[in-house]
Amino acid sequence: MNTQTTQRPFYPKKRSFPPKTHAPKVKISFLGGIGEIGKNMTVFETENDIIIFDCGMTFADATIPGVELIIPDITYLRDKLDKVKAFVITHGHEDHIGALPFVLNEIKAPIYASRFTLALIDNKMREHPRVKYKSIEVKPHQKLKIGDFSFEFIHVNHSIAGAMAVAINTPCGTIFHTGDFKIDNSPINQETTDLKRIAEIGRQGVKLLMCESTNIGHPGWSLSETKVMQELEKSVFQAHKNERLVIATFASNVFRMQEILALAEKYQRKVVFTGRSMLNVSQIAMKLGVLHYDRDNVINIEDVKKYADNEICILTTGSQGEQLSALTRMANDNFAKFKLTTNDCVVFSSSPIPGNEKGIINVMNKLVHKGVGLVYDKLAPIHASGHGYQDEISTILSIVKPEYVLPVHGEYMHLEDFRKFAKKKGYQDRNIIIADLGNQVIMSSGLVRKAGFVKVGAKLIDGNTFGDANSPVIKDRLQLAQDGFVIAIVNISSKLGKLLSEPIIITRGLLYQHEMESVLREIKTAVSVHLKTFDLHTIEATELKNNLKKFISNTIARKTKRKPIVLCTTIIN
Ligand SMILES: [Zn+2]
Ligand SMILES: [Zn+2]
Repeated sequence: MNTQTTQRPFYPKKRSFPPKTHAPKVKISFLGGIGEIGKNMTVFETENDIIIFDCGMTFADATIPGVELIIPDITYLRDKLDKVKAFVITHGHEDHIGALPFVLNEIKAPIYASRFTLALIDNKMREHPRVKYKSIEVKPHQKLKIGDFSFEFIHVNHSIAGAMAVAINTPCGTIFHTGDFKIDNSPINQETTDLKRIAEIGRQGVKLLMCESTNIGHPGWSLSETKVMQELEKSVFQAHKNERLVIATFASNVFRMQEILALAEKYQRKVVFTGRSMLNVSQIAMKLGVLHYDRDNVINIEDVKKYADNEICILTTGSQGEQLSALTRMANDNFAKFKLTTNDCVVFSSSPIPGNEKGIINVMNKLVHKGVGLVYDKLAPIHASGHGYQDEISTILSIVKPEYVLPVHGEYMHLEDFRKFAKKKGYQDRNIIIADLGNQVIMSSGLVRKAGFVKVGAKLIDGNTFGDANSPVIKDRLQLAQDGFVIAIVNISSKLGKLLSEPIIITRGLLYQHEMESVLREIKTAVSVHLKTFDLHTIEATELKNNLKKFISNTIARKTKRKPIVLCTTIIN
């Protein structure tokens, strides 16, 4: 059918409607959080509207020296910023909120999230006072229409308060996104994941399930927080009755915090919060009524000395061996307010986030070397993951009954494990979508399929500026860290056609003291001899500089088997 008319109707420029015969289309673009656990950011898009689902960051590791955070590249959104109607945030972990301060200046859209998540976002934004934003609180059971989408928020268990799954009704069917979740049948201070409502949504028909896959490799069911609390009581509070307790856990895990507060009260220990994020989150959780405890039972760290060891329980940051955390500083005898003794028992109520193992082991070794007692999750089950295991994922699959499944929040191995798992559950290959970072998945005409790639990447937050992972700055930093640098200065008289003084060679991070003098002498001599091959009356400065740089580089490589950065200055009078 020809839908064209000679007189085109007027529509506002930014909203061009397709002819009615066009089937609606929903595009899902993965700007982060696929093939990785971190920097979650998914874009849901119709002809008219865009919703950004989660907006997280990843902490940088030693392969990108000097960089603290990595956020998704938002180039894909730059020519469609006016279409962005909302940020929908599932919960307040950094891998879901950490990029907000860096994108809100460009993307002016309100943030929809739970009360606790918004409180954590507000806390984060205090460090970025110039960034303006609008936030709108949403609650479980709430339904909300934003542009072409409508959302329903569903309570789920996770290792943070205020976590929600989201049912997204689109013109092409319902998407159920689990967010980060587990199913804890005996949680602390909260309801169990709302399986009843999820099953109802499943009965109404779900086209696509986007399911987190972090723990797909773990058979069975994740540990309940009630079990963790029982074990903390037995293996920590009862087994170390006479010692002072120093417990490290994730600051955002207010449920664990609650368990420890309750046990401390029961065993008549005063609680001390230490470490910036532990202090911040505990205050937010107290203010919002998420934590319940006797205020008289919490004291400041300065007052620890007024109490006997067995009357104190210190809750600290540093469960990941972070360099500047309170616990790492305690282990290094670098924590001004408090010194560890052999009557301390340090408890890691946590598990290592992949990549942090070495740092944690370093801290543990230092603690043991000091004669400090140690309890960690390999000795006793005093930690539970916030991510559901296979049986929990299976429960979600069986009640959501989606037509298509698409694992998210996983490295490629997790996504592949999920594919095998879904096949075992009876899903056909064509109904299992394994997306890649940057993939665009399209829902249209009853089908869900992958359809090419959009631009994605990693933006490095480096001090006050942004950078790219493949930038020469990072390459230089790596080379500097590996092999150091050399500065060479040659002073030439073109009139006399000779060196005016001996070449100056300065090195850092390259030569050990015992070889310094001899190697520098050899390099200086080699440069002086090399310069004799030039006519120094007519030599051009840039040409000489480039030649010397290469010569010095090769000479050093031959002598030291190292490839430092070489900087060369030629002064020609
Ligand atoms: Zn999370
Ligand atoms: Zn997460």
